[in-house]
Amino acid sequence: MDKKTRALFVYDELLKLFEGASCELDFNDNFQLVVAVILSARCTDKRVNMITPNLFSKYPTPVALANANVEDVEKIIFSCGFYKNKAKNVISMARDVVERFGGVVPNNFDDLVSLSGVGRKTANVVLSVAFHNDTIAVDTHVFRLSNRLGLVDTNNVVVCEEELKKILPKDKWSTFHHLLVLYGRYFCKSIAPQCSECKFKEFCKYYNK
Ligand code: SF4
Repeated sequence: MDKKTRALFVYDELLKLFEGASCELDFNDNFQLVVAVILSARCTDKRVNMITPNLFSKYPTPVALANANVEDVEKIIFSCGFYKNKAKNVISMARDVVERFGGVVPNNFDDLVSLSGVGRKTANVVLSVAFHNDTIAVDTHVFRLSNRLGLVDTNNVVVCEEELKKILPKDKWSTFHHLLVLYGRYFCKSIAPQCSECKFKEFCKYYNK
């Protein structure tokens, strides 16, 4: 199986497993989505979803969060890890959105990555989920699974994104991201993946090493 055929096989199989795959973070608007994605770095979506109702109720708008006291935000988001950096980042990001974009989350990659705390992965998630653009956000799951499945062979996330874009039709990019995230989160975990029932054993580099 060449890489393109393998990628489509993985796509089709995972779509059967996770019909309607989508972002598991809870949010009500684009700004809340950006905050939630920033908080989700090295944290589970489940944990972020436990934190954000309180955060969003105290700071319901970009202006409110832009004017927040950093220590108050730290207390609310404490349990999601790296809370000091994340508190600073979400407040700075809110200020950027208010001061440079009139309180509206920008809808293009360059402006998104110009926001404090927003990197390539976060920008791609926001473009995909909020603006329905065709993108592939390479997070830890997408990166690990793409390499394990032999779709890419790289230790660089940008190369991983570029290679995946070459082997998959554009209209499948965003869904492929969600599918790999879900399979990585629930089955093909970093440690002790559930290989026995996996349909990708035949070509999985991790399984066959
Ligand atoms: S065989 Fe195991 S390591 Fe390979 S993709 Fe399947 S679950 Fe992941």
